[in-house]
Amino acid sequence: LTQLFRPLDMLGMVYRTIRQGLIDMAEMFRLIDTQVEVPDRPSAPALAIREPSVTFENVVFGYEPDRTILKGLSFHVPAGHNVALVGPSGAGKSTIARLLFRFYDPLEGRILIDGQDIREVTQASLRAAIGIVPQDSVLFNDTIGYNIAYGRDGAGIADVEAAARGAALMPLIERLPQRFDTEVGERGLKLSGGEKQRVAIARTLVKNPPILMLDEATSALDTRTEKDILGTLQRVSRDRTTLSIAHRLSTIAGSDRILVLNEGRLVESASHGELLAQRGLYAEMWARQASEAEDLDEAAE
Ligand code: ATP
Repeated sequence: LTQLFRPLDMLGMVYRTIRQGLIDMAEMFRLIDTQVEVPDRPSAPALAIREPSVTFENVVFGYEPDRTILKGLSFHVPAGHNVALVGPSGAGKSTIARLLFRFYDPLEGRILIDGQDIREVTQASLRAAIGIVPQDSVLFNDTIGYNIAYGRDGAGIADVEAAARGAALMPLIERLPQRFDTEVGERGLKLSGGEKQRVAIARTLVKNPPILMLDEATSALDTRTEKDILGTLQRVSRDRTTLSIAHRLSTIAGSDRILVLNEGRLVESASHGELLAQRGLYAEMWARQASEAEDLDEAAE
């Protein structure tokens, strides 16, 4: 019988996590996969944010006991700054996002938001403070309005409209016969990759979190759409503390600071211009991506 109840427990946990502000289905499936439950400390207070800074202090973490992924990672993102995480595949970029969202606890070290250890506060308040714009957003088979309002319990039509405006979705909404009441997804209107990204941005705007976590889309958007979306994201992140996980370096060259990870360690940390001058790993990655882009251009001619 206990065998039977375990999955039900899991579902309950997943459901609660969603209610607590986790808004992305892809994350939910990832959560089911990982099957970890990090409990709240009894009588834990809510996170109280005045200055939404993010600090990693000597964070050591591995998914399995004999394989350390983050090997003593320290960095500080001051409130309102825009910091990008780059590094080779498998370097640990997404792991940092998972730890900040507290899907796992570090084995050693601490993660702080506005000076508060995230282990000491409720997960509901932690997850309400962080908005994720994921790589590939999943939409519910419901109206476009519902899909946006889902960002926050109790969001009204005025909030949804303001968010759609902020995410530059209004031109689309205005073309739709039933505007926000138009059904989308499998059973309704199919949205393009770029439009789905905008819905994800609008969801995040409804949530209005002080901290943003952007996971750059790996799915191919055409160059024009990608530029437009990037512009929207830059506008949305202006007054928020933002961590961006980037694969294409061209999208993050304007960040306040770029953290370069390699094999679980921070190997470089500076602005784009400074990193190019240092001629290290970042400069090497930049040169490689530039020559790949040239190859693509030549192939297209
Ligand atoms: P990419 O750029 O390819 O997305 P990344 O830098 O985001 O890579 P992570 O996803 O953080 O890398 O993964 C870091 C390492 O941790 C990888 O070697 C990966 O195989 C491993 N890893 C990730 N998730 C798990 C898991 N749930 N269980 C075990 N190992 C994992």
